[in-house]
Amino acid sequence: MLKSCSCGREMHLMLRTVIFAKKVNINNVPVYNCSHCGRNDVFPGVKEDVGRLVGELGNQPAPHSIPFDQVHEWAGVLSRAMNLSDSLQATVIARAAEERINQLLDLWLIASSLEDETWKKELQSRLSQLSAQYIS
Ligand SMILES: [Zn+2]
Repeated sequence: MLKSCSCGREMHLMLRTVIFAKKVNINNVPVYNCSHCGRNDVFPGVKEDVGRLVGELGNQPAPHSIPFDQVHEWAGVLSRAMNLSDSLQATVIARAAEERINQLLDLWLIASSLEDETWKKELQSRLSQLSAQYIS
């Protein structure tokens, strides 16, 4: 997964720890990184949700860590793709995403047959995180 940096080099997608207000570690956030000029761009598919998470922390957060790959489906898919291969490649990511979507759909069918509305809602919001565009 490559993207061009404003300096003209290639940016690589990786999972990084983002430290907010010097106190909160947000682990496994997908970012594009340029090793040439050091620029970091948060992956477009999770940008809005990282923003919302940081907004919820407020100005005086207590020190803690947030496993972003458990909060956000895309970060989860990318961290699974990372375990499958050394570098994040589009084909591996697509496969990991497809597997996760199928898994969520199976769960949704179970939730649906149990008429568990809360669970259904939770699964729907996870599925909608994955449908967000991830290639920019
Ligand atoms: Zn650069």
